[in-house]
Amino acid sequence: MSKPLAVIAIDLPAGLLEDLRRSVHPLVTGGDPAAVAEALPRAEGILCSALFPLPATVLQTAPNLRVISNFGVGYNNVDLAAATARGIAVCNTPGVLSGAVADLTMALVLAIARRLFANATYARGGWARREPPPPLGWDLAGKVLGIVGFGRIGQAVAQRARAFGMEVVYHDLVSAPVEGLEACVPLPLDELLERADVVSLHVNLDPSTHHLIGARELERMKPTAWLINTSRGQVVDQAALTAALREGRIAGAALDVLDPEPPAPDEPLLALENVIVLPHIGSATVETRAAMRDLAVRNLVAVLTGRTPPSCVNPAVLAARTR
Ligand code: NAD
Repeated sequence: MSKPLAVIAIDLPAGLLEDLRRSVHPLVTGGDPAAVAEALPRAEGILCSALFPLPATVLQTAPNLRVISNFGVGYNNVDLAAATARGIAVCNTPGVLSGAVADLTMALVLAIARRLFANATYARGGWARREPPPPLGWDLAGKVLGIVGFGRIGQAVAQRARAFGMEVVYHDLVSAPVEGLEACVPLPLDELLERADVVSLHVNLDPSTHHLIGARELERMKPTAWLINTSRGQVVDQAALTAALREGRIAGAALDVLDPEPPAPDEPLLALENVIVLPHIGSATVETRAAMRDLAVRNLVAVLTGRTPPSCVNPAVLAARTR
């Protein structure tokens, strides 16, 4: 029997590719957009980064598609309604990356508190010239961390922040107490913004969270507060954030995600001193990326071989197939 055909739009290590080839025939491997577009009309499955756009117009070019296996937990790159209507399973890699993203978030909280980047820059120039050092940092203990989106990553951030003695408040659509995190206090968004010394965003991107943080919300934050975004760039109204930062209405922002990515060379945020920008490295550790690749391959192969994938965001599609 011939093997199902798939587009593998990320680089896989040789061993994993070997495993995959036992049950799937890769039409393309690697992320060359032209090669992917050419192969898509024949593909029954695609494994791609969560940054690879799959709107309805692209899905229309792939009449045989049965599964989209996203290398990432966010799947806002896929038109989920169009995929579901077509019976295409959409899979993702939740959980395996929560620790890495939470570690990065905590690294940013610490960097902000201890003015790490300003001090590192100072040590390479101003220090030798005996210029005055950057202002003092502040202790984390007793400061309030406001977590917006208390899901897997938000909770992993809360665990770390509590270990540093921070008070944690959070806002989510659901506010059932979480085991081990009973000390974290659910709040309406406005109240969280007013209380937090650091606001950290961990919602998934969907129409309800698009520009969740805009001019009105930034206005509610303390002038001394920082905003951290490791979720998706579009959760923040970037023009409003730029204005708030320029006018000193909040103290600063640390952003692992931007809108768009990569940013234009003249993106104004890149020129502001009270902004830390990272190139979307939330999950970028050796161990986490390996676990994500492994889960994404298992999702792809499972659907293409008629088995239940470990993580599917529209499982009704799979149930309908077995009826
Ligand atoms: P999750 O689904 O476990 O958590 C998201 C939480 O947001 C849920 O608890 C949900 O109820 C809440 N939420 C949704 N809409 C909301 C709204 N309008 N108001 C308040 N809360 C709302 O997802 P997760 O695994 O924690 O991942 C969160 C997001 O982090 C992903 O969707 C992805 O976009 C992003 N992410 C970024 C990186 C990176 O490299 N920077 C890596 C992984 C994930």
